[in-house]
Amino acid sequence: MNTLQQRRQFIRNLVLGGFSLYLPACKNTSDKKPTVKNLPPPKTKPEIEKEVELIEEYFESANVLFLRAKDDGYIKANTGFNLRVPKNPKIIALCKNVDGIVESIKYAKQFKLQVGIKSGGHSFEGFSSNNGGMSINLSLMKAIEWIDENTVKMESGVILKEIYDVLLPKGKIVPSGSCAGVGIGGLTLGGGYGLFSRELGLTCDSLLSLTMVDGQGNIHEAKNNDELLWACRGGGNGNFGVIANMTFKAHKAPKTFTRHLFKAYKLDQTRALDLLAHWFDLTAKLPTSCFGAYVLNYKTLTVLITDMGNKIDTIRPLLTSFGDKMDKTTIGEPETDIAKSLKRYYGIQTPLLFKNACAGLYKGFTDIEKPIAQVVDLVQKNNGLIYQVNTLGGNINTPAFEAVSSFPHRAYSYMGELQAYYEKPEKGEKLITAFQKIQNIFTANGITAHYRNYPDIDFKNWDTAYYAQNLARLQKVKRKYDPDNLIRHEQSIKGGK
Ligand SMILES: Cc1cc2nc3c(=O)[nH]c(=O)nc-3n(C[C@H](O)[C@H](O)[C@H](O)COP(=O)(O)OP(=O)(O)OC[C@H]3O[C@@H](n4cnc5c(N)ncnc54)[C@H](O)[C@@H]3O)c2cc1C
Repeated sequence: MNTLQQRRQFIRNLVLGGFSLYLPACKNTSDKKPTVKNLPPPKTKPEIEKEVELIEEYFESANVLFLRAKDDGYIKANTGFNLRVPKNPKIIALCKNVDGIVESIKYAKQFKLQVGIKSGGHSFEGFSSNNGGMSINLSLMKAIEWIDENTVKMESGVILKEIYDVLLPKGKIVPSGSCAGVGIGGLTLGGGYGLFSRELGLTCDSLLSLTMVDGQGNIHEAKNNDELLWACRGGGNGNFGVIANMTFKAHKAPKTFTRHLFKAYKLDQTRALDLLAHWFDLTAKLPTSCFGAYVLNYKTLTVLITDMGNKIDTIRPLLTSFGDKMDKTTIGEPETDIAKSLKRYYGIQTPLLFKNACAGLYKGFTDIEKPIAQVVDLVQKNNGLIYQVNTLGGNINTPAFEAVSSFPHRAYSYMGELQAYYEKPEKGEKLITAFQKIQNIFTANGITAHYRNYPDIDFKNWDTAYYAQNLARLQKVKRKYDPDNLIRHEQSIKGGK
């Protein structure tokens, strides 16, 4: 008998043995002896059997499997990508379909369990789970269905490599991130940027409709101009309900993909700063088909420029001139096997110990000119710390996208990112202290806008940092769909006033 069967047997014995019938008596604090008239009538056999059935349903129904800490599968379902922030929910609800989500929400409501939602489990701060509540786990919900050749519907448990595997052979993409294990659920609901977003917009800009189970267990379909769809395009992470599936516009995949790579070694502070200023100059001139990243890892700088539009003739002079300042330059050739090209960015797929967060959204170099020397100094004194700047801008900043989405930061063309990786927890302490110092330096210098999908538990005004001018409108959506705040994590939207 496995653990689940043992537990079902235990529950059957418990209920049939009548233990639950004693519970109301425990609550009776009055000295007055209950009269026969006050006692509930004894349960009939069919009633008891129905009760067993109901309780069993809570543990495994056709729609959901509930796991507790001792059950087989709990540890696997519980492990998130970031080992720095372990969580221990009382129940993991492994949902098989929308009805399973409804059952889970109703169970959580009945037993007053806080609900977290896990699609791909890649939250930097472990926001998909909690201690002592319920984590609704969507990893079994992975259907991908073509509605027509330009429209694709996915369940939220699908991860990015699974999307590329299905879409690329049909010559299609949904613009998203590049790391293989990131979930389409969390990625889209917080925005979603990547190698294609300056050309095609954020992932949430291709979101056409969705199905959500709200904090009361009601199912909603959101499409067209629905306020819920607006809210979920950038503000939907673990806030209003569980998004069960989403339908996206599928775009034509690029015919070619080109990668240009630059390296500089043993950098002192002056050179690191000089190259950063040049990187901003370079990327400001790139066409929307290009993505750029400046990655300062201790004293080594890597610069990546990718191009989904085969614009090498236009950009070669820019790349050559930038390359002259670096130690090693590789100007790439257009590659036609897009799947192979993208696999290069799949990254590590097993859980890690790390701290990663947004280090501010910037309009240009001038935004960080004042504090950046201090930042680079700290990075170069702490081997293991990485400061990265990624390009946004391009068609992300399209008024038509802005009008229908709650992602509030389209005017920023760049995003800073801090990362610290370490193998043992004790090694993280020093890095995280330096990490926090850098975040404080940015804040003190007016860098206060941040990307919701790169959260930092230490951000003081995280709600305005993530949602800016859209916060009050999002709070209204929260009040409508989850008035009891059942669905929550450390940085979920509160209903406000
Ligand atoms: C290695 C790595 C690479 C990354 N690369 C990129 C990148 O290229 N571009 C980018 O934009 N971001 C990137 N991110 C950040 C990523 O977008 C976020 O971590 C995202 O929230 C992860 O989604 P998930 O479903 O995997 O995570 P989860 O941990 O499952 O969920 C993250 C958050 O979303 C909520 N959520 C998840 N699913 C649902 C749902 N179905 N309904 C309602 N709420 C839900 C959770 O409550 C939680 O708050 C990366 C993260 C990592 C760790």
